[in-house]
Parts: sequence; structure tokens; C-alpha cells
Amino acid sequence: MKRILSFLAVLAVVAPTWLAYRWNDRPSLDPYRTYFLASAPAETRGLRVTFLGVSTLLFDDGETALLIDGFFSRPGVLRSLAARIEPDVERVQSSLERAAIDRLAAVVVVHSHYDHAMDSPLVAERTGAVVVGSESTANIARGWGLDEERIRVVAGESTERFGRFRVTLIPTAHFPHGMAMGEIRKPLVTPVRATDYKEGGSYSVLLEHDGKTMLVQGSAGFVPGRLRGRRADVVFLGTAGLGTREEDYRDAYWREVVTAVGARRVIGIHWDDFTRPLDEPLVPLSGLLDDVAVSFDFFIARAAAEKIDFKLAGAWTKLDPFAGL
Ligand SMILES: [Zn+2]
Repeated sequence: MKRILSFLAVLAVVAPTWLAYRWNDRPSLDPYRTYFLASAPAETRGLRVTFLGVSTLLFDDGETALLIDGFFSRPGVLRSLAARIEPDVERVQSSLERAAIDRLAAVVVVHSHYDHAMDSPLVAERTGAVVVGSESTANIARGWGLDEERIRVVAGESTERFGRFRVTLIPTAHFPHGMAMGEIRKPLVTPVRATDYKEGGSYSVLLEHDGKTMLVQGSAGFVPGRLRGRRADVVFLGTAGLGTREEDYRDAYWREVVTAVGARRVIGIHWDDFTRPLDEPLVPLSGLLDDVAVSFDFFIARAAAEKIDFKLAGAWTKLDPFAGL
């Protein structure tokens, strides 16, 4: 009995240490530094895109600004797993200020998991935006208390115009991890468990701007044939989870999302550890969850084979997504 108790005591010390060690075991970004896009020269004008972690992306042409997702709270791993979460008003506000976002036409949410949708109504409230997304996303906005006229529910494919942007949401599939699927059927009043943010259907977002085309694939899922016949010069490609799948899955994902739209450039997104605050440098997802290096190496090899330019984006960098294309 005594032996068992001392074994359990040792385990109680060792297990969290092992977990903490494994949680921080992740690939280095060093081999990929040369792939990061530089910021656009400040004196030039035109469409700018700013990556803000996960699949939060700011599109701004100087007249109209749109945000995909708008997730800034990034609660820590323990809270996300064991406690209840809610938008962090201070972090959202300081992120909006740092990214110089003071007005937005729309916050377009790719699906309703918390790392995409949680802050969208708060961001809309602060910037005058409408929230565009699924019924589940609408229920997150309603739970926050956002006015109904600021909520646009999308069912099936839909196109909206915001200034010179034409934004089309196309139903797609989420990465098949099977967690927190289903729908949010009533207004979601925070704080809630992370798993209460159910997926609610996923969308590919096609953006057309002055004849230029871009696609945001926020999660590494696809529906075979769904994007056939669409065009996107630049694809912002969701990465999370891909490193855990077999090569066949990565192959099919690339073919159905990147090759299908005739992309000339791919910019990897949703590779960062979203349990760390955005004011710290982005690091890849924990090795416990994914192997981001496998995905990046795959993207680099496939891009080279198909003469597509592969790039990454650092947080807060105002990019010209078409620079050098
Ligand atoms: Zn998700």
C-alpha cells in the first residue's frame, strides 16, 4: 500500500511536468524564416492584408476594411480545457488598437469554434461591423447582445458586397477531428466551456477586389469538387491538424483547395498556438496537437512541384498579398 501511495505521489509530480514539457515541444520556425512575407512599403497604397493568428485576417483597401473571424482573446490552455471562457475585452480592445482597426464593414466568421467566432460580436460592437456567418455564429452574437440588424445569417452559398470587396461564402467541411461538432441552437451567453462553441457548419470565403481574387480556407477540410471552377490567385490555407493525417489526406486537401482554384500563391494560416497571447511572438501548435513542420514541408514541396509561391505571414505585418506575383 505504502509503495502504491509513493508511486502515485511521484506520478502526481511527474505527469504535469511531462505534460508541460510535451506541450512546449514544438517545431522551430527557423527553417521557415525565409518564407515570411515582408511588410508592404508604408508609402505605397493598395489592398493590405494583416494576419492576426489562427484564421483572423484583416483586409483593408484604405476605404473599406473587413475582418475574417476576429479572434484576439486567446485564453490559455488550462482555462480552455478546464474552465469557462469568454471574450477578453481588454485583449480585444488592445489588439484592435494595435492593428489600427477602428472601423469595419464586416466580420466574416468561417465557423463557430471559439478560436474563430468567440470575439466576433465584441469586435463588431466596437467597430460598427455586421457579423456574417452561420446560424450558430448568429447565436454567439445574439448571446453577446449584438443587435439583430447587425447579424447576417448565411445558409448555403451567399455573396455580399462591402465597398470594392465582393465576398462569397461557400459551404465547406471542417478538418475531421470530430470535436465540438453540431450546432449552437440558442443564444450563447458567456462564460461557457470551449466545447460549447460548436462548429455550426464551415465556409470557404472567396474575396474579389478590383479583379483580384483570394480564398480563405480557415480549417483544413474540404468537400470534393466544391471549389471546382472558382478562381483565387492567393489562397490563405488553414494548416491545423494536417500534420497528424496521412499523406493522402494532405494531397487531397491541396488538390481540392489550392489546385482547384488555380492559386498562384499559398499563404499558410492557422498554424500558431492560439493558447498564447497575440502580443507574444507566434509559435507553432504544440507537438501534442499537431506537427506543423510536416504540413509546412508538404506545402513547400507541393508548391514547388506546381510552380506555386508558398509563403507565411507574421502577426501584425501589413502585407501586399500580391507582392512579387
Ligand atoms: Zn474549428
